[in-house]
Amino acid sequence: MTRQFKSYIDGQWVAGSDGADDENPADLAAPVGSYGVLDAAQVAQAVDAAAAALPAWSLSSPQQRADILDRAGSEILARKEELGRLLAMEEGKTLPESIGEAARAGQIFKFFAGEALRIPGEKLASTRPGVDVEITREPVGVVGIIAPWNFPLAIPAWKIAPALAYGNTVVFKPAEIVPGCAWAIADILERAGVPAGVFNLVLGAGRTVGAALVGHGRLDALTFTGSVPTGRALLRQAAERGLKIQMEMGGKNPLVVLADADLDQAVECAVNGAYFSTGQRCTASSRLIVENAVYDEFAARMQARLAKLTVGDPLQAGVDIGPVASAAQLDTDLSYIGIGRDEGAELLFGGERVECATQGHFLAPTLFAARPEHRIAREEIFGPVAALIRADDYEHALALANDTEFGLCAGICTTSLRHATHFKRHAQAGMVMVNLPTAGVDPHVPFGGRKASSYGPREQGRHAVEFYTTVKTAYTAA
Ligand code: ADP
Repeated sequence: MTRQFKSYIDGQWVAGSDGADDENPADLAAPVGSYGVLDAAQVAQAVDAAAAALPAWSLSSPQQRADILDRAGSEILARKEELGRLLAMEEGKTLPESIGEAARAGQIFKFFAGEALRIPGEKLASTRPGVDVEITREPVGVVGIIAPWNFPLAIPAWKIAPALAYGNTVVFKPAEIVPGCAWAIADILERAGVPAGVFNLVLGAGRTVGAALVGHGRLDALTFTGSVPTGRALLRQAAERGLKIQMEMGGKNPLVVLADADLDQAVECAVNGAYFSTGQRCTASSRLIVENAVYDEFAARMQARLAKLTVGDPLQAGVDIGPVASAAQLDTDLSYIGIGRDEGAELLFGGERVECATQGHFLAPTLFAARPEHRIAREEIFGPVAALIRADDYEHALALANDTEFGLCAGICTTSLRHATHFKRHAQAGMVMVNLPTAGVDPHVPFGGRKASSYGPREQGRHAVEFYTTVKTAYTAA
């Protein structure tokens, strides 16, 4: 008996139609379940329900909101193994990574439960005698959430929890291939006591359900994480409509390895950053920029380390890298591997599919020695494929690191305080890592990038208040 994942509109579970399989990328013969997709009229009902629920929820007691978010966070943490298992089966990252992501989603709900009780404001003296000025924050309104598949619990959590904490109502559209995790969040929020209409889940494709959500006139704000082309199209629509929008998109994150680095540590940072979660992280280290003096040694150590990694069933102990999440993503990865070969990049490791006991989208961790102008060194692939690039010295490495349209995260491995400090100051990225993988961030501090990677205010931590609230300035004469 397979599980059926439903949408959730105005406090009711809605089956939808044209049921589709919720694929298990590690075992195509055993889908996780199935789900029904909504039509445009049902999406409109969800937005209307969120609009109708807004007046009461926006004026609800912060304690009520904090309690609901806290209950949701507690349930996620208590069930992190089970939720992690669902995530691993649906998205394909390994069980330890999946359980870690579930725990992180729970912590995010707990963090924003606290923030609901700490909504900031200011009171200032006016420049006019006898007048007071108050600056307060109010909810922005009905928030549309469009999320990708690569962190199907954590990314929805870091959008839904602040939206609700600050008194907004929500319509959430997850990526098509992870309906189970989205359903689990809705199920938990319902049990936590979210009133009808305050949180709605709409399942279906981006071009139908997503488009109907974005096109609904009653939406006040849109938060999107996904690809650059979709983000740019949504930005144009938002501009025409005056919709408040925040976007996190691609990355081509550099990890610089200097000659003075601890090479064992640098290899671990590179392997983790480039290949864990099957390289399907917007913060993945997809460009490994290595100073000439240690380039050959680093390349040899990477090859030896990659040979020890196990690709396979994400639920199995000892597996380091699960499958690619979908057939479409696997096609993209393989096509970039072909492009790398055609452009003359040298394949140092991997480059081919891996046979496992089940039929799934398994791909070997792949490392190319590339030049900075190669497409595999410039375009986001979003798979377990990294480009090793040679740098003459620190200045050259920094220039290469910044020579990209993206600016999400930049990392450096060095024992030099001078270089680490200079890199933190001059890396053109929203996040910088020193002697750490570029991927792997804390849940309580801002997340986001620059350049083509991001648009609008930061997500997570206290900075989330910028997007999910609007400022009011009130003057009172005594
Ligand atoms: P990816 O290639 O990683 O799937 P996308 O940008 O296509 O990235 O998808 C990210 C999210 O955006 C998904 O939830 C997807 O369904 C949604 N989406 C895709 N196209 C549209 C669209 N035209 N309008 C609204 N949402 C969309």
